[in-house]
Amino acid sequence: MPEDQIHQGAAAPAVVRDRLFIDNRWVAPHGAATIDVIAPASETVIGRIPAGDAADADAAVRAARAAFDSWSATSPADRAGYLARIADGLRERSDELARLIASEVGMPLKLAAAIQVGSPIAIFADYARLAGEFEWERQVGHSRVLREAVGVVACITPWNYPLHQIAAKVGAALAAGCTVVLKPSEVAPLNAFVLAEVIEAAGLPAGVFNLVSGLGPAAGEALVRHADVEMVSFTGSTAAGRRIGEVAAATVKRVALELGGKSASVILPDADLPAAVKGTLSACFLNSGQTCSAHTRMLVPEALYDEAARLAVQGAAAFTVGDPLQQGVKLGPLASPAQRDRVRAYIRRGIDEGAELLCGGPDAPAGLEQGCYVQPTVFGRVDPASTIAQEEIFGPVLSIVTYRDEDDAVRIANGTPYGLGGAVWAGSDERAIALARRLRTGQVDINGGGFNGRAPFGGYKQSGNGRELGTYGLDEFLEYKSLQCKPNRETA
Ligand code: NAD
Repeated sequence: MPEDQIHQGAAAPAVVRDRLFIDNRWVAPHGAATIDVIAPASETVIGRIPAGDAADADAAVRAARAAFDSWSATSPADRAGYLARIADGLRERSDELARLIASEVGMPLKLAAAIQVGSPIAIFADYARLAGEFEWERQVGHSRVLREAVGVVACITPWNYPLHQIAAKVGAALAAGCTVVLKPSEVAPLNAFVLAEVIEAAGLPAGVFNLVSGLGPAAGEALVRHADVEMVSFTGSTAAGRRIGEVAAATVKRVALELGGKSASVILPDADLPAAVKGTLSACFLNSGQTCSAHTRMLVPEALYDEAARLAVQGAAAFTVGDPLQQGVKLGPLASPAQRDRVRAYIRRGIDEGAELLCGGPDAPAGLEQGCYVQPTVFGRVDPASTIAQEEIFGPVLSIVTYRDEDDAVRIANGTPYGLGGAVWAGSDERAIALARRLRTGQVDINGGGFNGRAPFGGYKQSGNGRELGTYGLDEFLEYKSLQCKPNRETA
């Protein structure tokens, strides 16, 4: 166990972490710099972590490199055992993790427990199962085709679903036989330290998992640049992803990128309109709109605009804004003051560009002037070419856009640089699926079908490359090796 001090406050824990987890030891960072972790509900400091640097990144990579040969040679069944123990360890600490993530991200506690903690547990358990079931080799003609671990992997993650994104990378990488250096988001890093303790308790061999906290351009980029890192798995903004791609190119690393989105929910004329509007609002406002695949553009036929707008305003009023640790709150604060200011600026921009503000707005919600709160906001008659319909806002802001016919709807839905998520609502699944086939996006919810943790998750266009979760996520961390045997000696 690290020698960190953990103070239990009245509303949320205040956590000071002064060690990094490298080679199965909690070691002092190379430098003295630290980063404060802010609770967005109160804008107070609730934690402090080391700002690791290039020397820390190098120490972690060296540990991961040294561990690689033996870890990658373990049997899938052995790796499955470790992964199952990690899932169990997270489950034992799930209440603590839910409070921690609700505090550092701002998601309402009940939702945080179900999604932010439930999903990582399910992902580690799923990779335990998949490691046992996966086809690690097969015969192709006179070749035996092996699947082997890529090598040392740097996992660089964001703050919005912090432990889910870590689990999607670390679970798959460990199952594949890779060794890992994790650089979590500096905005919501405290949960990653709990994961490191869980992994320590699960007894993984030294160097297989390492944690280096710090800022992206320092600790993160040092990992991306490092010659002994074979792959970078990144989730975050498109701007940072582009930079990571450039830096990684120098050493020809494999790079998997999960980036931003501007997803459309297309409501066809024969859809159940109240259900479609309700479902779109939920998918837009989840986690205060800080979901990469949030359905932020609601596309409705011109004839249904008035009714859709009325339903959206009515539905938005049900998203009670408040302290994420309080019962009954549906919309917590945004994750940081910077994020709040950015979202409010987008709302002002929408008004300036002529969209109709149907509800919400750029001012703080009444009585919530302190904290990173933003009103649930709905814009009507939004020009699909305007800023708020093109750029990722990452806040509780829905844009309603009208379309003339299906071709127009498809053109608008596909008309951004992104291609991550989306939805189609229609009178029948067949009709919705026919339209979904025309969308240039990685996943589409059909008539309210929700997230599936075993289906491939990832983006088209500037939403990234590669896929996470399930066997698709495992594939990302594997190489192919083919062994050609003489046909007359081996079965063809
Ligand atoms: P961000 O890009 O600012 O940071 C993400 C991570 O990258 C952090 O750990 C950060 O420290 C690190 N980083 C930043 N610059 C770096 C650099 N030059 N080199 C190496 N590492 C660097 O993103 P964020 O604000 O934490 O997250 C929000 C973004 O993430 C949104 O755009 C959202 O759409 C996206 N996101 C995408 C998905 C997906 O699966 N497609 C999921 C969640 C979030």
